[in-house]
Parts: sequence; C-alpha cells; structure tokens
Amino acid sequence: MNVRGKLFGAMTILVLFVTVGYFGATQGYLKNRFEDYFKEKTTGLFEIYYKEHKNSWEGIEEIKISDKLEQKNLDRRKIALLSPDGNILFFRGSGDPQSLIQQGKRNTIMVNGTTVGTIYVDRWESSEDYLLKNYILDSMLTQGLRVPALTGIMALLLGLWLTKKLTQPLKRLIPAIQKIAVGELHTRIPVTTMDEFGKVTEALNHMSQQLFHAEEVRKNLTADVAHELRTPLSIIQCYMEMIQEGGRDIPPETLLPMQDEVIRLSKLVDDLHQLTLAEAGKLKLDRSSTDLIPLLDRIIDMLKPEAEERHIDIIRSYPAQKLNVFVDPNRITQVFYNLLVNAMRYTSSGGRISIQITDISHDESRFASISITDTGVGIAAEQLPFLFDRFYRVEESRSRHTGGMGLGLAIAKEFVEAHQGFISVQSEIGRGTQFIVYLPCA
Ligand code: ATP
Ligand code: MG
Repeated sequence: MNVRGKLFGAMTILVLFVTVGYFGATQGYLKNRFEDYFKEKTTGLFEIYYKEHKNSWEGIEEIKISDKLEQKNLDRRKIALLSPDGNILFFRGSGDPQSLIQQGKRNTIMVNGTTVGTIYVDRWESSEDYLLKNYILDSMLTQGLRVPALTGIMALLLGLWLTKKLTQPLKRLIPAIQKIAVGELHTRIPVTTMDEFGKVTEALNHMSQQLFHAEEVRKNLTADVAHELRTPLSIIQCYMEMIQEGGRDIPPETLLPMQDEVIRLSKLVDDLHQLTLAEAGKLKLDRSSTDLIPLLDRIIDMLKPEAEERHIDIIRSYPAQKLNVFVDPNRITQVFYNLLVNAMRYTSSGGRISIQITDISHDESRFASISITDTGVGIAAEQLPFLFDRFYRVEESRSRHTGGMGLGLAIAKEFVEAHQGFISVQSEIGRGTQFIVYLPCA
C-alpha cells in the first residue's frame, strides 16, 4: 500500500473511531443521567409523603403516583415500599412483591439522616417519562447521527485532499532520485515549499550538486594525471630509443635527463598520494607544540645557497617571544617548503623574500600568522581563485619548464586546513605575491 493509502486508511479509522466513540459516550451518559433523575424523582415522592405525614408512613397505601398513561393501565411499573424492619408498607403492580424485591432496582429513603424505608421498582421512570426518555434517546440516535456523519464525510474529504497534498511532493522526488541513481547528476528539482519537503528537496539538490562536482573532480583528476604522466614518459621513451639506436656504450650523463623525469614522476605520485589522503581527511598528524622559528630557519638554510647565487635577499622578522604552534612539524615543514620554493622560483635575481611571524586572535582562538612575501612576477587577480586547485599553473609552459606540477599550493592548503588553520594569498602582477598561513597556537 502506498503512503497516501496508508494515511487515508488511518484517517478513516480515526473518523469512525471518533464518531462511534462520541455516540457511545453520549448515549450512555444520557441514559445514566435519566436513570439518576427518575430515581431521585420517585424517591423524592415518598420522602415528601413521609415528611408531610409527621414522619410516618400512615395511609401510604393511598398514595397516588400514577400518571395518566398508567391509569389507562399501559405498561404499569411496579413499586414496593419496605419499612426498615422489612415489612411491605406499599405495593403497586401486578404479580408477586417478593420477586420485585429480589430482582428490582432499589433505593433507600433517608429523612434527617435516618433510613425510613427502601423502595423497589422494576424501572424508575413512570410510563409517561419512559416514553419521553425513549423519544429523546431515539431522536438523538437518528437525528443526531446526521451531524457526526456530515462531519465524518467532511473529514474524509479533507483527508483525501490532505493526503494528496502531502504525498504529491514525494511523488515528484521519486523520479528525480531515480535519475540521480542512474548517474544523471545535473538533475535539479524545483523547490516550491518552505516546509520539510522543501528542505528535503533542497538537500537532494545539494547532494546531486556535490555528486556532480565530485564526479567532475574525479574526471579532471584522471585527465590531469594522464596529462602529467604523458610528458615524462615520452621523454624517457625518446631517450631510450636514442640509446638503443646509438648502439654504443652509454655515457652516464646521457641517463641524467631520464633520471630527472623519473624523479619528477616519483614526486608526482608522492604528492598525489599526500593530497588524496588530506582531501579524504585521512592524513595522519603527529601534532605537538612546535617552535616556528627553528622550523622556518631549517628550510631557509636549505634554500640559502640558491638564494645567494641568485642574489635574493631573505629577510626574517620574528617576534621577540617564542611562538609555539600545535602542529605536525613534518607536515608544516612541507607547507613552508612549498611556499618558499615557489617564492624563490617566481622571484628574479636581486629580488627579496620576507618572512614575518606575528600572533593574532580569531574567533576567540589565538593563531600564529606567518607571511611569506616576495618581489616576484606576481599573479593576475583572475588567477587567484584557482591557485590552490590541484594541477593549476599560471603559465603552464613556464612552470613545466621550471619543474612545477601545480600540486604544491593544493597540498599546502590541505595540510594547513587539516590543522584547523587557513591560508590566504594577495598578489599584484610585477610587484610580488604574499601568502599568509594561520596556524593555531599551542
Ligand atoms: P609544484 O609546487 O607542484 O612543484 P607549482 O609550483 O607550479 O608546482 P604550485 O606551487 O601549486 O605549483 O603553484 C601553482 C602556480 O601558482 C604556479 O605554477 C605559479 O604559476 C603560481 N605561483 C605560486 N606561487 C607563486 C609566487 N610566489 N609568485 C608567482 N606565482 C606563483
Ligand atoms: Mg610550487
């Protein structure tokens, strides 16, 4: 059974239940009220008699309690009055008073807190009252049924409309979900309501958009990797063919370009592995309180020979006090190494690279901000949004020539974010570039 059928079924049961319950309750309640009322009325009659006759039952046999109908002997009720010691003081009706006493309804008559007698009846109401009671209850049943029946029909019609309204958005979602399931990831469903269905639709749209994006990234990655592999592999192939054709001893320097390409390939595989781990959130971090100054100095020492050779000034501006960050020193070394290698690579001879450390507060947390500013070629503003994408290079041919794969910044960003830090860039063509890394303080 579909959702609509189930909802409608539940509503029908509810309406029936309420109608039947309402009838049962009102009929039962009214019957009880009538019973109580006539019981009091009959008992009251005897009480008044007793009081009016100076607290005695004298002459009770003469009491007239019959109405007009009963005088015509129509369905007479039986009444017996017994004194507190069990003598029959009054009996009216046909048959044996003993059977009435055993089987009839009874009520004690109390005057000033003392029991002065007990009455037994086969029914509390007189014939006239009996007809009136039945008339009211019957008309309640037949006439009064119309209202709940009408309300019931209205409720069911409303239910029919409501269940249709409730299940309609679901019906629209099903074909869209089926489309997404078979790979049509550009499927979007219009959001027409602001209720829970609207939210589900929005979530579904977001999910398919994410899937679409992930699929695009996967396709691009495969294409990029294939592209990056092609060049070094064809270079290696070329050299091997040359060597084979030469047919003579191979001098070791002939193998150097091949070795370069193999190193590039290994680096590519390594970088991709790190990046994939970081993107999947599976990067293992061995975090500890780390002093940034010696960490940066070690990298600068590595780059110093090249900097001196190309007359590039490396200027450091460190805070007077030690500033420790809570990071994995190996991963963060990799981040600054990538940034400083870039700065060196894209700064021409005679240029300058400045490294500055300061501490800042952000969202009630303390961060160390490490800026790396160069006076290099700079990056055009329209390139900046893509700078941290994998395999993104500003000038592909230039970078390829200088050895860049376009993975360094993507890795830097992923590693920094894995430490709950962030990274930003500012640049101006011809003037230089500034990267700022923010890392949480220890
Ligand atoms: P890899 O780092 O993988 O060896 P890469 O250096 O080319 O290769 P990224 O470090 O990701 O790749 O940098 C992406 C691109 O951004 C570079 O190709 C370069 O064009 C540009 N770029 C990065 N840093 C700078 C900089 N300091 N000055 C100018 N351009 C830069
Ligand atoms: Mg780089």
